[in-house]
Amino acid sequence: MSKVVDHLAELTGFRDRDVLDTTLAGALRDLLQPLRVAIHRCVGEDNDRRWLTRARLEGAEAAASADPLWVEFDSLPGLHDYPARVCAIETHEPVSVAGSPHVTVFPLFTDRDVAGVVEVESGGALDAEQQRLVASILRIYRNFQSLLDYSERDTLTGLLNRKTFDEAFYKLSSQTTEASAASSGERRQKNAAQQAHYIGVLDIDHFKSVNDTYGHLIGDEVLLLLSRLMRSCFRYHDRLYRFGGEEFVVLMRCNSDADAGRAFERLRTSVAAYSFPQVGRITVSVGFTELKPGDTPSSAFERADKAVYWAKTHGRNQVCSHADLIRRGELDDDSKVGDVELF
Ligand code: GH3
Ligand code: MG
Ligand code: MG
Repeated sequence: MSKVVDHLAELTGFRDRDVLDTTLAGALRDLLQPLRVAIHRCVGEDNDRRWLTRARLEGAEAAASADPLWVEFDSLPGLHDYPARVCAIETHEPVSVAGSPHVTVFPLFTDRDVAGVVEVESGGALDAEQQRLVASILRIYRNFQSLLDYSERDTLTGLLNRKTFDEAFYKLSSQTTEASAASSGERRQKNAAQQAHYIGVLDIDHFKSVNDTYGHLIGDEVLLLLSRLMRSCFRYHDRLYRFGGEEFVVLMRCNSDADAGRAFERLRTSVAAYSFPQVGRITVSVGFTELKPGDTPSSAFERADKAVYWAKTHGRNQVCSHADLIRRGELDDDSKVGDVELF
């Protein structure tokens, strides 16, 4: 019993969700001694959902393996490649598949949506006591995830809140620094690890008049619907934030300025084409910039914000790249001034 309590203490001791999944897999491995245990998440949109492996432990392996966070979406297996997992999610019940090995699939939910499954492979079927133990641990895991959601997410839209931005930013920018160090060494093929990161700031145009005309509740509904459009326009690993009011931020990984611009343009056009109940059409202005080594959250945000400001003062309803505005002489290149002062 004390072993179970130890695992629960460890499980609830982390705020980092990557570590949380690894810890859950470790706890189940120690308690059930299966051949293999894995946590798979459903990612993607309704019509194209895939399985992302968050943690997999084989036998007595010391460290769990997982799909890289930025894995190519198309390389992941489709939802229906694993019927037992789909069945567990649809029925909200564990599914047991006899065979060698015996596979037991437990559904994993959060308060917001289907999260994925825990898959346990063992020599024989799990007995009733083991099944109850897993179900109890998963309930605690789910409650803990809800607590994390409560502190990390905006209550209206469910997007990440501003206070989680800095941590995510530093995690990403350390990858950017590593990637640029790698590419400046021997020439390597351009791969996912060497892609750049971008930050985009999005601000609704004339939102005050939406509130003034239709009231705050309708204004809130617009914010909620906009957050849904954002989710459908970006990929599962892009990070979407509501920074406050009618200002949103996206942290994303992309090959180039042009690719990032296309992603934001896709969002801009889908917002402009969407008919918001009562309000009708609204538009957004977006500014974006590539993260550079040495950036702080505020320096990167400031560049994207300058590009939004430019968009606002030049007609709104457009996507502006900070680098492009500098190239065109529309904005001053502050980084050059910094370089001169430093060296
Ligand atoms: P611009 O095109 O220059 O961005 O104009 P704007 O009217 O969108 O910008 P401004 O900053 O003047 O107004 C933002 C408005 O957003 C003010 C406030 O009424 C509204 N707002 C801020 N937070 C919320 C919220 O949580 N809910 C609702 N409904 N409205 C909000
Ligand atoms: Mg606005
Ligand atoms: Mg604003």
